[in-house]
Amino acid sequence: MIDLTHVIDPEKVERKFSIETIGAETVNRNVVRLEKQWYIMTNIAMVSHIGTHIEVPYHILPDGHDLASMPVDIFCGPAVLLDFSDIGRRIGISRERTIQAAKACGGVREGDIVFCNLGFGDFYGTKRYGESPYFTEEAITWLAESGMKMMGVDAGGVELPGSEQHVNHTTLFKHNIPLIENVANLGQINVPRFTASAFPYPIKGVESFPVRVMAFIPGTDERLGG
Ligand SMILES: [Zn+2]
Repeated sequence: MIDLTHVIDPEKVERKFSIETIGAETVNRNVVRLEKQWYIMTNIAMVSHIGTHIEVPYHILPDGHDLASMPVDIFCGPAVLLDFSDIGRRIGISRERTIQAAKACGGVREGDIVFCNLGFGDFYGTKRYGESPYFTEEAITWLAESGMKMMGVDAGGVELPGSEQHVNHTTLFKHNIPLIENVANLGQINVPRFTASAFPYPIKGVESFPVRVMAFIPGTDERLGG
């Protein structure tokens, strides 16, 4: 297994994420907390787009699926890794380059989870992270029409810079494709195809949430039958 998730450190994270440690007795009135007993719970106040997080159509489309209504089988399955790690800063990835990357790993198949290694995962939390490549409209459209069911990138997003229409998000969400942002450790995956999972908690009326993203590499653990 390879963990594709960044750790959220409440001390370091840039967006709103505050934790308040409280005694369990403040939540559960039946609890008696003994003097000096460590029996805690936590109040968390946070923005939903934090750390490695998954976005579903309700983010952009008022009639789109929220976290609770999204079909759960979308969140796991066969995955393919497209390599764009040589693209460089602030470059728009073309349709042709995307087709080439897909060919190099055996093609994108119907129902694939597509991870795109932009080579930026290690810059997470640094200034340079904001300089990641992005996708052109034609590239995202090609991926969406190739049958991809979920997408993940090691960057803060895939959006066309300056697009107030959020054209790339809109294309993904109109195809009911969730987007995982800030994926970690894609450079550790050395096979083109594997199995992946990213199950968010089902919450009504919410469009995004931090998610634990896992890659299961075939042949590395016989218990998985690989
Ligand atoms: Zn986001």
